[in-house]
This record gives sequence, C-alpha cells and structure tokens, in this order.
Amino acid sequence: MIPVTKPFLPPKEDYEKYLDGIWQRNWLTNNGPLVNELELKLKEYLKVNHLLFLTNGTIAIQIAIKALGLKGEIITTPFSYVATSSSIVWENCTPVFADIDSRTLNIDPAKVEAAITSSTEAIMATHVYGNPCDIDALHAIAAKHKLKVIYDAAHAFGTLYKGKSVFEYGDVSTASFHSTKLFHTIEGGAVVTTSPELLKRMAYMRNFGHDGPEKFAEVGINGKNSEFHAAMGLVNLSHIEAIRKARKTQSEYYDKVLKNLKFQKPLVLPGAAFNYAYYAIVLPSEELTLRMIAELNLNLIYPRRYFYPSLDELPYLKKVDLPVARSVSNRVLCLPLYHTLTTEEIDFVARIMLRVQNN
Ligand SMILES: *Cc1c(COP(=O)(O)O)cnc(C)c1O
Repeated sequence: MIPVTKPFLPPKEDYEKYLDGIWQRNWLTNNGPLVNELELKLKEYLKVNHLLFLTNGTIAIQIAIKALGLKGEIITTPFSYVATSSSIVWENCTPVFADIDSRTLNIDPAKVEAAITSSTEAIMATHVYGNPCDIDALHAIAAKHKLKVIYDAAHAFGTLYKGKSVFEYGDVSTASFHSTKLFHTIEGGAVVTTSPELLKRMAYMRNFGHDGPEKFAEVGINGKNSEFHAAMGLVNLSHIEAIRKARKTQSEYYDKVLKNLKFQKPLVLPGAAFNYAYYAIVLPSEELTLRMIAELNLNLIYPRRYFYPSLDELPYLKKVDLPVARSVSNRVLCLPLYHTLTTEEIDFVARIMLRVQNN
C-alpha cells in the first residue's frame, strides 16, 4: 500500500534517551525543561524571536484570534484545512471567504480587498502546501484598512519569504506539528509573533491565564504541551534536514516522471521559497481526477483530495460564489510523499496516472 503520507519515526533509541531524564525529574508537563529546550531550538532553527510550543495547530489559531481580541469578520481562504475556518467560528468571529489565485492557490489579495466591510477586523491566510502567500500585497491591504493579519503556517515549516522566516510575518503565525506534517511532535503546534506584548498575552492564555499560582492575568485555556511531545520534537529536529532533502529529491523525481502528464503545479512567487512539504497537482478536469483516484486505489495507492471540499461548503456556513476555489478543489490531488517513499513507488504511481490520462 502507498498512502498519501506516513509519519516520520526516528530510531527508537534516540527517543528513549530522553525518557530517563523525564523519569528522573518526574516532570511530565507544565513548561518542563524539554519544552523549553525545544522552544529554544525551534527559535534557532526557524530564526524567529518569540515562539510558544502548544498542544496543536488548531489551539494555536484560536489563541491567536483571542490574543488579538478579534470579534467581527475575518477574511479567510476557502482553500485550506477545515481548522482555519472552524477556529474562526469557534472564537465567535465570522469567516468571510475571498477566492484564491488560480496560479498560487493562495488567497487572492485583490479578492481580499473587495471583501472588506466596516466589520472586517483581520485577514487569516494559509500558506498553502508551504508556498508563501503574496505577503507584500496582503500587508499593504492590511495597513491601508488597519486590519490584523494571522497566517496559518501549518504547512510552512522552514519556508522563507524574502530571505526571512515566513513565521516572522503578520501579527501572529501559527504552526502545526501534527504527525502528518513536515516536522512533527506527534501532536503539537506553535504561535510565533514579533510582538513581545502578544507573546506575553499568549503565554498566559496557554496556561489558563495563570500569573503565578493564585493570580490570573487573562482568560486562558489549556494549550500546554508535554515533555514527551517535546522529546519527539527534539529528536525529529535532528532529522529535519534529511527529511527535507528526501522530499525535495522525491518531488523532483515526480516532476521528471510526470513530464508527459497534463497538470498544473502551484506557482511559487518571486521572493518566496518552498519547503516541498506536499506534492500537489491540479488536473484538467474533475472527471479525470476521479478516474485517476479510482485507478490508483485499485492499485492500493491512496492520493488525497487535499483540500476538498471548498470550505464554504461546510454545513454550518453559507455557500458563496468562489469559482476558482471550487474549480481547484474539484481537481486537486496530493500525491504520496513521505521520507521512505522509493523511486520505484513513484514510478508505479506515475505509470498508472499516465495510463489513465492516455486511455
Ligand atoms: C494541520 C493543519 C491545521 C491543524 O493543525 P493541528 O495541529 O492538526 O490541530 C490547521 N491548518 C492547516 C492548513 C493544517 O494543514
């Protein structure tokens, strides 16, 4: 079987090395030494100043919305994982969808500007597949209309924009370290900000609002993560260059063997760098996409329609007219990509796809 992804597991001994310390200290969670060490190493690796390690990437988005005090409309992308929209609703804000750019598959700045009303408070954009948004254009709009900017950077681990970490842009950027992501801590996530005040606020929020044992600074939630998750992160961080290198090699190999397949790949804008987190293709029609999936599945290959459906189709939201997002989500496929995927397996996937196209 060839799944769309497989979580990276390091050598078991590497993880076990951390367990002795946890048993000695008897310190399992609540901002322990391994959580601190992971935060330091992540800040170093990502070249960011302020980062908080959290339970997951969804809590990260929710804390970002809360810390910025958002209450009204948040303009967001329909082409993302459900957590981007559901977190907005969960925080009692209203998601307003702006359609995506058909070349980059990221939110289209022109559509963002057109969607602004007197109730708009923020923009929440996703760096889809780890490919940075048109950050300059979004920031110009945000500055002009005095809007906050949150980036759902769940896919964007290690991505750069204009030579700087993509996490340094916006008021807050959020990360997911879920098992299926490029870098993972089993479950986990982070918020990154350049603002020391926001950092302080989010640090209180992550820990019930505690300011010492008997004092509370903020309304808070439990967004803390454990020593066990931090240990997995520390081990995986020592493998991240190898993981990234494998993804790049595999992606370039897909490019080569799919040379004769008709499809579009997301455009990476000038100044943006890509981290090869996913291998996504947009096929010419939904009919062909469904035939590809059926034939691949018959051969025990499981690509994923990611993202499908367009988020305005969520049952608790109003459907809106988003022709580009609809069309792309109907035709998009993420092909298998994980560290142990072999060239023979990629050959096999490509052979089947070319056969379906040419039949
Ligand atoms: C994975 C993901 C999330 C959610 O992260 P979790 O850590 O699973 O909560 C949010 N947004 C996007 C775009 C994602 O891919």
